[in-house]
Amino acid sequence: MSDALSYEVVVIGAGPAGYASAIRATQLGLKTACIDRTLGKDGEPSLGGTCLNWGCIPSKALLDASQKYAEIEGLETLGIETKEVGFDLPKMMARKDAVVTQLTGGISSLFEANGVDFYPGSARLLSGRRVAWTDHEGSTNEMKAEHIILAPGSVPMDIDAAPVSNEEIVDSTGALEFDIVPTRLGIIGAGVIGLELGSVWSRLGSQVIVLEALDSFLPMVDTRIAREALRELRKQGLDIRLGARVVAAAEANGSVDVTYQDDAGDQRISVDKLIVAVGRRPCTESLLAPDSGVTVDERGFLYVNDLCETGVPGVFAVGDVVRGPMLAHKGTEEGVMVAERIAGFKPLVNYETVPNVIYTHPEVAWVGRTEQELTAEGEAIKTGSFSFGANGRAIAANDAEGMVKIVADAESDQILGVHVFGPQASELIAQAVIAMEFSASAEDLGLTMFAHPTLSEAVHEAALAAGGRAIHVVNRKKK
Ligand code: NAD
Repeated sequence: MSDALSYEVVVIGAGPAGYASAIRATQLGLKTACIDRTLGKDGEPSLGGTCLNWGCIPSKALLDASQKYAEIEGLETLGIETKEVGFDLPKMMARKDAVVTQLTGGISSLFEANGVDFYPGSARLLSGRRVAWTDHEGSTNEMKAEHIILAPGSVPMDIDAAPVSNEEIVDSTGALEFDIVPTRLGIIGAGVIGLELGSVWSRLGSQVIVLEALDSFLPMVDTRIAREALRELRKQGLDIRLGARVVAAAEANGSVDVTYQDDAGDQRISVDKLIVAVGRRPCTESLLAPDSGVTVDERGFLYVNDLCETGVPGVFAVGDVVRGPMLAHKGTEEGVMVAERIAGFKPLVNYETVPNVIYTHPEVAWVGRTEQELTAEGEAIKTGSFSFGANGRAIAANDAEGMVKIVADAESDQILGVHVFGPQASELIAQAVIAMEFSASAEDLGLTMFAHPTLSEAVHEAALAAGGRAIHVVNRKKK
C-alpha cells in the first residue's frame, strides 16, 4: 500500500457532520482524508451532502423567494402600492442552483485551504481500520487510517403505498426541481419537510393538500404552539388533513390518484404531483463490510455511545446515521467533537440544547423540553408566555402572529425549554440555546436588558412572565 493512502483520520461523507470533522481534524494537525460520492448537476463532485445539495440550503432559497412573493399581498396594508407582480420560476430555480454551487464550492475551498485531501467516490469500511475507496471510474484503492469517522447521512424513506418515480410522485429532492407550479399538489406527511415544501408551492400558487396519518399535528412541538401553527398554516391555504393515512397512490396520465383512509373510510383525491415526505432513514447501504465490526441498531442506525464511538476502537459515527435528531447542526457538533477527541481534547455535545426549527412562516423553533413532556413525567414546572401581538416591533412590521413560551423548573427557576412560533423564530431561539447552555434561570433572562423595539423582547417578556413580572401583558394571578 502506498504512503499517500495512509491517514491519521479518514472521514466518510462530506455533509455538515463529515466536512466539519475533516476541517477540524486538519486544523488540529491531523493528516486527514474525506471521501464523498455526491455529484452535482454538472457531473462534478459536490461537497456539503444533503444539506447543501438538496436539503436545507436549496429549500431555504425557495422558501425565502416564495415568502418575499407571498408578502406582496400584504404590502397594501403598509401603504405600498404594487402594480401586477409575477414570478419567473426557471429564474427562481436557477438562483437556487447558484446558491448551492456557491456554497458547495465554498466547502471545496475550505478543504483546500485547510489541507483536507478529498477523494471523490464511494467508501466502504473494512476491518482493521481500513477503508476501500472506489472512484467514479470504478477503480478501488485501499486506505489505512488510525481513526475513521463515518458520516454517510440519510436518505428519504419510501413507503410501498406511494413508490417514488420522480415523475409525478417525487421525494423531497424532486420537489425542489418542479419546472412548473403544480396546480394540485399532494404531500404525504405533515412533518418538517412536508410543511416547508408545502409552504413553498402554496405561496407560488399550488392548491396543497397535506395528508398526515397521525391525529395530532407536530406532536413533538409544544401543544399550544402546534395548535396556533396549524391554524395559521391552514389560514394560509394549506389543506392539512390529520388522521389521513395514505394507502395507495398511482400515476395515471400525468396526474396521481391518491387513496387515503380517515375516520370516514377510504377517500380519494387526484393531484398533479405528490411529494412523499414520510421521514428519512440512515444511509448505510454498502457502507460496512460484513467483518467491519460496526453494529447497526434495530432501526438501521449505527450504534454509538454519547461520544460517537462505535464498538470498534478508532471508528466513530456522527450525524444522521446515528441516534438523535436528523439535524445538520447536531451532526456538525458531533463531527467537531470527534475530531477534537481524536486530537486529545475532551469536549462533549450537549444533547439537551439542540435547537429545532421549522422554516414555515411564521417559523416554529424550540429547544429543550415541552410543558406536556415534563408534566407527564410529574416534574413541577412553571411557564411564561408572551404574544407577538403585544410586541411593538412585530406590530410595526405587520408580522405579529405567534408567541414565545418559556418552561422553567418550579423550584430552581432553571429554564428547561423555550418554544417560539413567530417571525424570525429561527434566530430568536439562539438566545434560548445560549441561556440554557449556561444553565440560566428565567430570572437571569428577565434581568437581562434587551434592545427596544425588537422581536427579542418577546423572549424577555416570556421570561419575566414565568416569574409573574411581565410588563406588557397582564400577569396570571398566583394561586
Ligand atoms: P418527519 O418524520 O418529520 O414527518 C413525516 C410524517 O409523515 C410523520 O408525521 C408521519 O406520521 C407521516 N406519515 C408517514 N407515513 C404516512 C402515510 N402513509 N400517510 C400519511 N402520513 C404518513 O419526516 P420529514 O418531514 O420527512 O423529515 C425527515 C427528517 O429530516 C426529520 O428528521 C427532520 O427533522 C429532518 N429535516 C429537518 C429540517 C429542519 O430542521 N428544518 C428540514 C427538513 C428535514
